[in-house]
Amino acid sequence: MNFKQMDSEFVANTYVRFDAVIERGQGSTLYDENGKEYIDFGSGIAVNTFGVADEIWKKAVTDQLNKIQHTSNLYYNSNGALLAKMLCERTGMKKVFFSNSGAEANECAIKTARKFGTDRADEKNVIVTLKNSFHGRTITTLSATGQDAFHTSFTPFTEGFKYVEANDTEELKKAITPEVTAIMIEIVQGEGGVNTLSKRFLDEIEKITTENEILLIVDEVQTGNGRTGQLYAYMNFELTPDIVSTAKGLAGGLPLGATMLGERVKDTLSPGTHGSTFGANPVCAAAAISNLERIDDALLKEVRRKSELIQSELKKINGVKSVSGMGLMLGIETEKSAKEIADICLKNGLLVLTAKIKVRLLPALNITDEEIKKGLKILKGVIEA
Ligand SMILES: *Cc1c(COP(=O)(O)O)cnc(C)c1O
Repeated sequence: MNFKQMDSEFVANTYVRFDAVIERGQGSTLYDENGKEYIDFGSGIAVNTFGVADEIWKKAVTDQLNKIQHTSNLYYNSNGALLAKMLCERTGMKKVFFSNSGAEANECAIKTARKFGTDRADEKNVIVTLKNSFHGRTITTLSATGQDAFHTSFTPFTEGFKYVEANDTEELKKAITPEVTAIMIEIVQGEGGVNTLSKRFLDEIEKITTENEILLIVDEVQTGNGRTGQLYAYMNFELTPDIVSTAKGLAGGLPLGATMLGERVKDTLSPGTHGSTFGANPVCAAAAISNLERIDDALLKEVRRKSELIQSELKKINGVKSVSGMGLMLGIETEKSAKEIADICLKNGLLVLTAKIKVRLLPALNITDEEIKKGLKILKGVIEA
């Protein structure tokens, strides 16, 4: 029995997998069990921030592993404290809650927003989210996700969410009633098709949330940690979020979620109101500290340069209808189906992702120009064939 057969027989049937067993690699060049080479334009869905087997990342992780792997939140944890301080200093946020995933980071954001609201008025507990958003797979984060397709099979769902069309300021204004405690957005909708919200819409959200006791929650699970060419995607715009959630690339390949809390909500959570056994696990936190140190202005500038390089090359490919997104989070609309392109790319030695009708690229932030060129050559061949 090979691993593919074993997976089909013993792993819960929740994933449609590409036909490859990826085993090892260096940077953004990966190899499968048969030694076949792939250029990686997906980085494990925006997780492997510095690619695979990165020396600096490995040292941060193994140094901590050689000390202690876990202590629990009953004791102080130096890595957790240091990472929280770094995140606050880099964002202007005031406190951080740590968890293990994007869904959990959003759960904390939602709990905080509800407590902030209900501390003020019993019924102030509704969160406005956007159609086509994606916020996670727990019952509550599925509820927050503004896509009807996710609201079946698991009823009853958590109540208290209202959905408005992205970039529709009139609909948004109508949705703002006294029960609303927060507006929750992704700056670039990732799973929804790599769509960046308009400046005008974001300005309106900023206005509503600063002029009223309504919180702005930015889900930076995918867009965060340098992905869009700024440390967090909201920094590309004039926004002052009250809550920022992140996960995916934060620890560069280890599970870590963070919910950053701004001035208005820094004391909303109190002892006993929330927690997580693994939250700020010392090994995951060591990886995140190392990553954050490296995501400096020079690296962010490189992310923006590589983005422009990729975008200008994509525009030269026949069959590319449009390119969307920011930084190293790009969506490509093509004449062929995205799924078909991704399947043929895999056969030809390139890993790409899809998001709705688009081919989605989320390469490691330190992908080399050579890897970019190699990958784009394969992609061009597949799109133009
Ligand atoms: C991936 C993702 C999530 C869910 O993260 P998990 O770690 O899979 O729970 C939530 N929000 C956004 C924007 C995401 O891209």
